[in-house]
Amino acid sequence: MELMNNMKLVLGDILKGKRRAALGGHVRPDGDCVGSCLGLYMYLKEQYPEIETDVYLENVPEAFRMISCTDEVKTQAVEDDVYDLFICLDCGDSGRLGFAEKLFENAKKTVCIDHHVSNGAFADWNYIEPDASSTSELVYKLLDREKISRRTAEALYMGIAHDTGVFQYSCTSPETMEIAADLMRKGIDGSEIIDKTYYEKTYVQNQILGRALLESMLILDKRCIVSVVRQKEMEFFQAVPADLEGIVSQLRQTKGVEVAMFLHETAPQQFKVSLRSKGKVDVSRIAGYFGGGGHVRAAGVTMKGSSYDVINNITGQIVLQLDKEEADAEASCPQVKA
Ligand code: 5GP
Ligand code: MN
Repeated sequence: MELMNNMKLVLGDILKGKRRAALGGHVRPDGDCVGSCLGLYMYLKEQYPEIETDVYLENVPEAFRMISCTDEVKTQAVEDDVYDLFICLDCGDSGRLGFAEKLFENAKKTVCIDHHVSNGAFADWNYIEPDASSTSELVYKLLDREKISRRTAEALYMGIAHDTGVFQYSCTSPETMEIAADLMRKGIDGSEIIDKTYYEKTYVQNQILGRALLESMLILDKRCIVSVVRQKEMEFFQAVPADLEGIVSQLRQTKGVEVAMFLHETAPQQFKVSLRSKGKVDVSRIAGYFGGGGHVRAAGVTMKGSSYDVINNITGQIVLQLDKEEADAEASCPQVKA
């Protein structure tokens, strides 16, 4: 499989001769997914008007609707449609494309742009940088910076701000800040983007967050925090899955914990699990072990069974890593003999 590590030079080549291109991101799109897809979509529409470009995503959360062209996102695909090119963004594997996966499979050529450490380079051409803060940062690097419009800059800035926890997580590099600065120079209102798409919560979102915090438990000698939201609570609060965004990050902020685990019941005996780490535990390995994926400090997986089964299975893997970490620390710090 061909691995392209610098597509900036070749974006034009990839698009050469293509009449129809489709872009797609992962199920339950987050800020980086929407930002990278819409940023690239608008750039292609502006710079390559001769190519018919479409963007496919599941319903875009209300808070991201301030980004231009979100009303053009297609939420359904025609089963046997064949595109000349499919560009997959922010997806660790093609299954994460959800309903758009069939378009990926039908396409004559495929490209993957991603920063998930669990990504196995599944497209014809792959641009994967696990150290990058976000897929939006990678999209920026592919574009001719002079040609980035204000509305494209807004989308990419949102994506970078979200995946860095507003420029705070360890994935925020000096280069990330330089890219954000360049995007700001396009005249965007960065503080409004961050406030409206990241910090602002609806009343329902705050209520369900409060419930999740109230019901959370410290386990593993207070090194792990767990909370579960069930379908009946979602119904009670009239919440939708997008309303749960940010709960696991809030849990992770608890002093003393290494790992935060948040379970959302998506069907009877089925849970979407979100994992966050402060660094000692590689949660992408744990999610990957159970069939999911993600990053070292932020990962997810869907698991079947009761909430107790799911929590037990995951904590088993956390303990293995924490014990190894402690043993390694002891080994590198030998006891002084009396
Ligand atoms: P979240 O917990 O916010 O849903 O996801 C955290 C990270 O893990 C994101 O980068 C997301 O793309 C990834 N992730 C979440 N769930 C899954 C999953 O089921 N499979 C894979 N491969 N990655 C996931
Ligand atoms: Mn991302």
